[in-house]
Amino acid sequence: MTDGKRPAPRMNSLIAGNLRFQAGKFLVEREKFIDLLRGQEPRALYIGCADSRVVPNFIIDAGPGEVFVVRNVGAVVPRIEDPASAVIASAVEYAVFNLHVKHVVVCGHDRCGAIHAITEGLDLSTTVGSWLSRATSTLPARLLADLKSIPEPQLVERFVRAQYVNLTTYPVMQRALAEGKSVLHAWVYDPETGRLREMGDDGAFHEVRAEHVSDDWGIW
Ligand SMILES: [Zn+2]
Repeated sequence: MTDGKRPAPRMNSLIAGNLRFQAGKFLVEREKFIDLLRGQEPRALYIGCADSRVVPNFIIDAGPGEVFVVRNVGAVVPRIEDPASAVIASAVEYAVFNLHVKHVVVCGHDRCGAIHAITEGLDLSTTVGSWLSRATSTLPARLLADLKSIPEPQLVERFVRAQYVNLTTYPVMQRALAEGKSVLHAWVYDPETGRLREMGDDGAFHEVRAEHVSDDWGIW
């Protein structure tokens, strides 16, 4: 359909998907979508990898309006000195102080192509290589020199912990934590099992199992 002035959008699989969405999910849950326009109150800020197989709302079974999401290649949190840190810092500031988000999550994942690329050696002449080098800037040289000897789960955990530590140096994150507005989490998602590992106070990652989850999680 065209008004004679503007060209009609070209049908492709994405447009076809939107048409299905309009006629299906949107129609069924229309009231919910309209209700959300009054204001968003997401429960979490999720900082994760752009990997198409690790979909934030899916892995925590959350619907529209429930998660404020920032994703990039590799779930990188640049150091505070890096101008690129503004991408993450602005999301933290907005999510915590405007949307009153209680949980800030840095989530990496097993089988991450970005981490694989780091272990293979980054080509700093490429944009991806240059970007991913930000993720390793705080890792010990000893570790970086021998990445291939580290089993994948531990490597991913080290990597995610480094992003978590970077985030704790952001003044806006420090303020959120000091004022008790938010809790910061580090997770690793395993796309093979759907399971999460969460970093504990000891810096080690522990698999989240239903029997270990206390009821007080329901408070927030
Ligand atoms: Zn990834």
